[in-house]
Amino acid sequence: MDSSHHAMTTEEFIRKEVFKSSGSSKRDTRTRRNDLQTEYWKVIPNEGACEKCQAMGEGVHWEKPERPHPNCKCQIKPGSIRVGIFGKLEGWRDTSSDTFTAGQSIKVIIINRGLGLGGVWVTVDGTVTRSTGHMRYGSSKTFHFSKFGEIPLTWQVELMSDGADECFFEYKIRN
Ligand SMILES: [Zn+2]
Repeated sequence: MDSSHHAMTTEEFIRKEVFKSSGSSKRDTRTRRNDLQTEYWKVIPNEGACEKCQAMGEGVHWEKPERPHPNCKCQIKPGSIRVGIFGKLEGWRDTSSDTFTAGQSIKVIIINRGLGLGGVWVTVDGTVTRSTGHMRYGSSKTFHFSKFGEIPLTWQVELMSDGADECFFEYKIRN
């Protein structure tokens, strides 16, 4: 079962991650093709760069942007919001903490690999806490989290197991 603390659809996420380039009739390099796209380019305008180049520096580009004029000295740097974190929680009140950068949305997947009932508390950025509730052996639960801001965003995910001494969970944090 999927759950989300934000009543938002994927379409809305994508729309929010689009930064329209001003006055460009060419293809829009700031349009994210889909929410699986994790590689982007960032333009760092050169000191004293023209207005066009300054505008290129806003937000991120999901396709490599073309330089707006010859002799442009701005930096075009690749970046990634890809996240692939794997970990485990073993025993009563085991904890883990992961700090990483990503885009505006992440998934936290919890799988119960232990015998017996138990669950996991998931806290994101020290503020939003969700509980899996009791999970049966082999079952998994996925949480979606989202926030807005300029990419890449820093995320902190803290997990704590809530079960008997022999409980055992695996978790994955992904885009
Ligand atoms: Zn430039």
